Amino acid sequence: MIKLHDKVFKPYLKEEQILAAVAKMAKEIAKDYKDETPLFVGVLNGALMFVADFLKAYQHPCEVSFVRLSSYQGLTSTGIVETLLDVPEDLDGKSVIILEDVVDTGRTLKQLVHLFSNAKVKEFKIATLFYKSEVYNGEYPIDYFGIDIPDNFIVGYGLDYNELGRNLREVYQLNQSDMINLVLFGKPGAGKGTQAGFLKEKYNLKHISTGDVFRYNIKNGTELGVLAKSYIDKGDLVPDEVTIDMLKDEVEKNPDAAGFIFDGFPRTAAQAEALDNFLESKDMKVNATIALEAEDDILVARLLERGKSSGRSDDQDEDKIRNRFDEYNQKTAPLKAYYEKQGKFHSVNGIGDIDEITERLSNVIDSLM
Ligand code: AMP
Repeated sequence: MIKLHDKVFKPYLKEEQILAAVAKMAKEIAKDYKDETPLFVGVLNGALMFVADFLKAYQHPCEVSFVRLSSYQGLTSTGIVETLLDVPEDLDGKSVIILEDVVDTGRTLKQLVHLFSNAKVKEFKIATLFYKSEVYNGEYPIDYFGIDIPDNFIVGYGLDYNELGRNLREVYQLNQSDMINLVLFGKPGAGKGTQAGFLKEKYNLKHISTGDVFRYNIKNGTELGVLAKSYIDKGDLVPDEVTIDMLKDEVEKNPDAAGFIFDGFPRTAAQAEALDNFLESKDMKVNATIALEAEDDILVARLLERGKSSGRSDDQDEDKIRNRFDEYNQKTAPLKAYYEKQGKFHSVNGIGDIDEITERLSNVIDSLM
């Protein structure tokens, strides 16, 4: 394990594995270009080590140049790409092969391709050492790649976390095991959203409320919103495929979160299993599921009261509220056993002053650390 700034990283790829991938790429490219003199254009700063090792492995005539772009700020790709060193002059008739350290969403790549769009090159190819195929938008073909990697944050071998880590000979990945991921469980009206609001501040967690995401989409008239509205208006659950994909997107949007509070997710066995599998693929897990318990009559009264000001149609009609409870009892309540089996289920009394309840939840969370 190594620490860079505030984050801990664990070993991921050994130097031999990296060099073998670089050698394999050099061989493939040589097969296509050894009879001409291609121009390799390295993308600084990240590709510095890759370019050096690549050239040592590519022993045929070639030219070398660099461009410099910058897009990462911290751990997320911000989408703001700056050109810090422009394309080489006189590219006419040349075969240009870009040497990138990593291709992920494709945003940096788009900028890169754009930089060369006015050059009258003979051929334009893209070679990347690391390729996150699962998140790549697929806009341009990736002609050569070294290693296909999952969407985890990596450092080393030229790649940095806020400028540290470039000089590491091996590649490390962000260690997620000190993350805290909580599922807040409970019937509609139990106070999940209210409590999540306090807990996210106290423990620096990202709060994902699937209900809020749906309402946001409904308000903005997105395709997802239109689809979800018909279910939500009746107090039915939105289909699993839709909800699961949406949840994954929300997690992906926050790669630097110290942990998540899942509020209103999972609500079915399929969602619980999908969450476990998804988190496992990202080297994460649910640390605890905490249920806020309260009797139905109290909850109905709370929801009707909330409905007066929230404008939520599903809060204003007792039949719809009772239908949401039925959905809960049939589909969500069985998850208690699912999490009990994993030893992760905690129950908290959801009746009392708001700060008293926050205290009860905090006691559970503190016991996890
Ligand atoms: P909430 O704000 O959590 O009470 O959710 C409001 C409504 O959004 C629910 O009644 C469902 O129609 C829908 N919804 C929210 N989360 C989920 C989920 N995990 N699965 C299916 N439907 C959901």
